[in-house]
Amino acid sequence: MFENGQQVTVETADGNDSASSFDLRFAQVKALLQKEFGETAFRSWIAPIDAVSCVSGTLSLNVPTRFIRDWVKSHYADRIRSLWTQHFGAIARVEIGISGKKAAAPAAAASGVAYETPAIANENAAKDASAADFSVALDPRYTFENFVTGSSNEFAYAAARKIADNEKVSFNPLFLQGGVGLGKTHLMHAIAHSARASGRKVAYMSAEKFMYDFVRALRFQDTMSFKAKFRSVDVLMVDDIQFICGKDATQEEFFHTFNALIDQGKQIVISADQSPADMDGLEERLRSRLSMGLVAAIHPTTYELRLGILQSKCAQMKRELPQDVLEFLAQKIASNVRELEGALNRLIAHAELVNRSVTVDTAQDLLADLLRSNDRRTTIEDIQRKVCEHYSIRLADMHSPRRARPVARPRQLAMYLCKQLTTHSLPEIGRKFGGRDHTTIIHGVRKIEELLATDPMLRADLDSLKKAIAA
Ligand code: ADP
Ligand code: MG
Repeated sequence: MFENGQQVTVETADGNDSASSFDLRFAQVKALLQKEFGETAFRSWIAPIDAVSCVSGTLSLNVPTRFIRDWVKSHYADRIRSLWTQHFGAIARVEIGISGKKAAAPAAAASGVAYETPAIANENAAKDASAADFSVALDPRYTFENFVTGSSNEFAYAAARKIADNEKVSFNPLFLQGGVGLGKTHLMHAIAHSARASGRKVAYMSAEKFMYDFVRALRFQDTMSFKAKFRSVDVLMVDDIQFICGKDATQEEFFHTFNALIDQGKQIVISADQSPADMDGLEERLRSRLSMGLVAAIHPTTYELRLGILQSKCAQMKRELPQDVLEFLAQKIASNVRELEGALNRLIAHAELVNRSVTVDTAQDLLADLLRSNDRRTTIEDIQRKVCEHYSIRLADMHSPRRARPVARPRQLAMYLCKQLTTHSLPEIGRKFGGRDHTTIIHGVRKIEELLATDPMLRADLDSLKKAIAA
C-alpha cells in the first residue's frame, strides 16, 4: 500500500503476512474477477479497488468514489467474499471505503461508522459521470459472429446489424422483443461491440441500472449531471425495459431522456420481453414513442436453429459431442437458448470428468430435471394439431383465411387454448394463426368464453382437448 509515497503497513489475517503478499492475494482475486466479468467491467469497477486489510474476518477495501463503492458493493462484494474464502480462508464480510481518506479502521467499519464525508463523495460522483462509467460491462462472447441465425431471429439480426454498421440512424428506436433466453442481450452487446469498434460512443445498461442511477441522482439532487452524461453518447441501449413498467417516475425520466436523444439524432436500442403494444404498466405516451421505430421480434427457436447453436457452441469451446446427442438436445430442450447452453455445458463437463464420450442414455440421466420441465411446456403447434385431430380438419385450416363455421370455430377454440396454456403474447399467437392481428385473437378468445357459458358440447370438447394436450 503506497499512499502519498509512504508505505502503509497493513495487518493481515494471520498477522505475519507481509503487506506485499496480502496485496498479491488480492491481485489474484482481481484477476479471477476479470476473467469472470470481462474486460470492460474490470476496467470500470474492479481495477480501481485497493485492498486495505484483512482483520478478524473482515476484508477492507477502498475505491475512489462513492458511486463506485455502491456499485461494487451491490455487484461484486459477494463474489469477492466467496473468492477470498475459497482461496485464502474464510472471511465473514467485505467492507468498502472511499479513498482519499485513511483506510477504514476495522473497528470503525464493524461498528458501522461512516468513513467518508458526503461532500467529498458527491464531488467524486460528479467526476465519474462520464459515459464510460455508466455503461455496463459487455460480454466479449456476445458478438455477431457468435450469433447463429435462423428463421426465428434473422429479421432481428438484420436490424441489429444495420444499426451497428450504419453511422446514419435508420429507425429509431430499434425495439428488440423476445422471450427469456432467446438472444436479446446477446444482440444488444453485439451492436455495442461493433458500434464501439467504429468509434461511436455507446452506453449500454439495463433498465434496472437506469432506474438505480436516476434514483441516486434524485437523492443527491444531481439530475443535471444524470441528464448530461446521456448527452455525450451516440448510441443509448437499454436492456429489459419491462423492468420500468409500473415505475412512473422512472418512466417519466426515461421518456424525457429518450425524446432528447431522438431529437439530437442519436440512435436508441431497447429490448423487452414483450412488444410495446403488449406491455402492461407502460405509460401511453412512452408506449407510442417506443412503437415509433422498428419492433423486431425474436421468435422461439426452431429445431434447426437449436442444432446450429449447439454445433456452433461446441466449435467455440473446441469440444465434440456425438451428433445423436446434439440432436437429442435440440429435440428435447426447446424452451430457450440459455437452457440449451446450460444442458450442453453440463454434458461437456461430465464428459471431461469421467473422460468418456456422452451417449444419449447418459444425457437422459444427466439432464433429467431439464427434460422434465421442457416436456411440460405446450406449444402453439401442439394445440393446433390436437384441435385439428379432434375436429378432423386440416392443419392448414388453422392458418387459412376461411371463415366457414366448421373451421372458424375450432380455430377460435385453438386460439383460446393457446392463450390459456402457453405464455405467448397475443401477437405471437396471431402470427401462428396465419398472421392474424392480435385483435382477431382477442375476439376469438371472447367468443369461446361466451359460448362456453351456454354450450355444454363445446365445454366437453374443451375438456377432452385439454386432456389430450396434457398427455
Ligand atoms: P435474453 O437477453 O433474450 O434473455 P440472452 O441474450 O441472454 O437472452 O441469451 C441467452 C444465452 O443464449 C446467451 O448465452 C446467448 O449467447 C445465447 N444465445 C441466444 N440466442 C443465440 C443465438 N442465436 N446464437 C448463439 N447464441 C445464442
Ligand atoms: Mg437479457
